[in-house]
Amino acid sequence: MPLFEKILVANRGEIAVRVLRACRELGIATVAVHSEPDADALHVQLADEAVLLGPAPSAESYLRIDRILEAARQTGAQAVHPGYGFLSERAAFAEAVEEAGLVFLGPRGKTIRAMGDKTEARRRMQAAGVPIVPGLVDPLEDADAAVAAAAEMGYPVLLKASAGGGGKGMRVVEDPADLPRAFDAAQREAVAAFGDGAVYLERYLTRPRHIEIQVLGDQHGAVVHLHERECSVQRRHQKLLEEAPSAVLTPDERAAMGAAAVKAAEAVNYRGAGTVEFLYQDGEFFFLEMNTRIQVEHPVTEAITGIDLLQWQIRVAAGEKLAFTQDDISLSGHSIECRVTAEDPFRGFLPATGRIDHLEIPAGPGVRWDGGITEGFEVGLNYDPLLGKLVVHAHTREAAIARLERALDELVIRGVETCLPFHRRLVRHPAFRSGELSIRFLEEHPEVLEPESEGGADPRIAAIAAALLEHERRGAQVASRIGGSGATGASSRLSSWRASGWPWRGAT
Ligand code: ADP
Repeated sequence: MPLFEKILVANRGEIAVRVLRACRELGIATVAVHSEPDADALHVQLADEAVLLGPAPSAESYLRIDRILEAARQTGAQAVHPGYGFLSERAAFAEAVEEAGLVFLGPRGKTIRAMGDKTEARRRMQAAGVPIVPGLVDPLEDADAAVAAAAEMGYPVLLKASAGGGGKGMRVVEDPADLPRAFDAAQREAVAAFGDGAVYLERYLTRPRHIEIQVLGDQHGAVVHLHERECSVQRRHQKLLEEAPSAVLTPDERAAMGAAAVKAAEAVNYRGAGTVEFLYQDGEFFFLEMNTRIQVEHPVTEAITGIDLLQWQIRVAAGEKLAFTQDDISLSGHSIECRVTAEDPFRGFLPATGRIDHLEIPAGPGVRWDGGITEGFEVGLNYDPLLGKLVVHAHTREAAIARLERALDELVIRGVETCLPFHRRLVRHPAFRSGELSIRFLEEHPEVLEPESEGGADPRIAAIAAALLEHERRGAQVASRIGGSGATGASSRLSSWRASGWPWRGAT
């Protein structure tokens, strides 16, 4: 079956780069779209053609369905990949793409719509026999209805926006007296974020793990799962680090969750790559939601299964049958991904801006960097702060952690604050290393987020480092005059040194 000749990637950053690479490997020509400040971005550089959508704000560029379809028409692209975020979970976009006679590289619009509404998804999953988080399956009429339902359910409860995503419109309520106000706030936030104020209640699980299952379906009715990813390390219900497999699942639990995920996907005739998210607590698991797109953390699954999810997304959209059955999908070793964002972890993950003036990407066995940045790239505030993902794969979890420590030490991004110091501390934390995770990890271990101690660096070491740097600089100048490189291993490590000490060593 012939694949597409040309694909348009309706996204930016690392995921656009990832899709472009998959297309290149499949011999498919590519079209990038971009905003004005992204004119020289890596995804534009890597695509065969590029089309300007508009100015920096997403609403005037990456969210302009009309301009994206016009770009596809102009360039003769046959299919559109939405990546994640932006338009990826807008049913109207999937439908507009298909109405324009193009292929949408994702599920049908009606699947996106059904799973995008949390209460409808819960009703469907309940009907299909997939266990859901205890709670309501319909939106609440008003605050009084919330009070009555919560009294029956027992506290703590979680208010959630039906149209929710990105943690918006979510409120944990422990005290009945706080519920009416929290209901109003959740509703207001949901209206502002999604234009839909429907809110419902779930029981708030107190110490669950977030464990999700990757699924893949073709257009001929086959659905398989590719095991789990554990995404329990979160901040304010947003993922920071993911790993596969989970350190806690037994083979029986893994099989049961995988089967439930396949059942969930089959219930909506799922096609393409998707993720069924569960909360797991004390050996029980509950359906949370389904993400009808490729996810940020897909590389850890690719690492342990050896299956290229992006390529398969494209293949099944072109009508190919899955070339493997459930029994063919193995699980090998352990993989961990760190989300590297332009955020200052010691100032409440405050978004940071700046020009990347130095970038050193780690290499060596079992290390993958999926990034969207280059030296000289200006990081602004218009888009998601994710700069890239550092992914490692090794034989065991312990070996993967050691590899991650090594790779994190080699990764240098200068010119903009990043959350790398947080990851360097996290991977050294005994609770993380022992696999004792829950979605409350950071609440239970706040020391991971405490600022570095001031003046920790020994002034004598500072002086020696400064002298060595100067020596290196002169050496490089001399070497460039005589035609050599002059750089040594020591210089690249020294380039990471700061007056406050080695950035990844934590407080001394
Ligand atoms: P969103 O779609 O806004 O990202 P999700 O439903 O996917 O929201 O939940 C995101 C995160 O919120 C989960 O990974 C988990 O940390 C937390 N969460 C959601 N529902 C519950 C619940 N019922 N109990 C405890 N934590 C929850």
